Amino acid sequence: MGSATRIDGKAMAARLHESISAETSRLAEQHGITPGLTVVIVGEDPASQVYVRNKKRTAEACGFRSVQHTLPADVSQDDLLALIDDLNGDDSVHGILVQLPLPDHLDEQAITQAIAPSKDVDGFHYVNIGKLTAGDTGDAFVPCTPAGCMLMVEEHLGADLSGKNAVVIGRSNIVGKPMASLLLAANATVTICHSRTADLPGVCRNADILVAAVGRANMVEGDWIKPGAVVIDVGINRIPVEVDGETKSKLTGDVDYAGAEPVASAITPVPGGVGPMTIAMLMSNTLRAAKLSAGID
Ligand code: NAD
Repeated sequence: MGSATRIDGKAMAARLHESISAETSRLAEQHGITPGLTVVIVGEDPASQVYVRNKKRTAEACGFRSVQHTLPADVSQDDLLALIDDLNGDDSVHGILVQLPLPDHLDEQAITQAIAPSKDVDGFHYVNIGKLTAGDTGDAFVPCTPAGCMLMVEEHLGADLSGKNAVVIGRSNIVGKPMASLLLAANATVTICHSRTADLPGVCRNADILVAAVGRANMVEGDWIKPGAVVIDVGINRIPVEVDGETKSKLTGDVDYAGAEPVASAITPVPGGVGPMTIAMLMSNTLRAAKLSAGID
């Protein structure tokens, strides 16, 4: 047992942004194409606004054409679908992202599925999910968070995970399930755990790769970690902390970092781990959408 390598998602993302910017310049020079990312946000949710701002800023830094549509919280389903229809038909838009969650009166599934699969840079359309599940990712978009997690796993274990046990905690469509598909495609032996799993600590203790995507602060304890495991903490939880007698809040993951760090071989911090890689993969998907739209890959 030693001290785990801290997987620096911020630094990895910065390297990716550099290569995406360089490729974007080449695409403009050689083919006259500028990748276009359009983000649609409904309402005033402060967390969503921060995420959208970060995405826009990064898209601009990569040299993309970045457009944001901010719609009122009471926008109708028909008006939102009409906007998506326009964006689907606009050749300057290569990637469309509708920031989730949406207000309750909107049908999130219907809206996500209205985005053209070729512009679905979030990878939530059933066509893209189906291709990922079938292992046919040639022109499919993989959801950004699991795609980023996979790059971090690969950096430590290589691309072939034959013989490794991977445990994913969480079975959501945007993180847990696609993460399991990617690990399986890389030859890992995969177990998906969720709120109904019996003896979660026991299952985790068998994991050479442990991905936590639950949304419960510090749920995964140090003695759940197999010595030498690679631990990827997807969770983002805001918890109260006392600073000089004042209550403030800080972000923490699903894994007790201090408990896991002496046991794991590599671990992602929160913040600064999976979060920045998610945005980098959104940029990578948008660049790819622009290239595919012009028949370049
Ligand atoms: P979700 O709520 O859709 O899914 C949570 C999953 O955790 C469910 O499948 C549920 O069965 C499982 N779960 C709940 N309680 C459990 C328990 N006690 N034991 C085992 N499993 C349990 O959430 P999500 O959208 O998949 O997101 C998960 C976390 O990841 C959240 O904290 C979210 O904020 C974060 N997240 C981070 C990023 C990023 O970029 N870093 C992106 C997406 C989500």
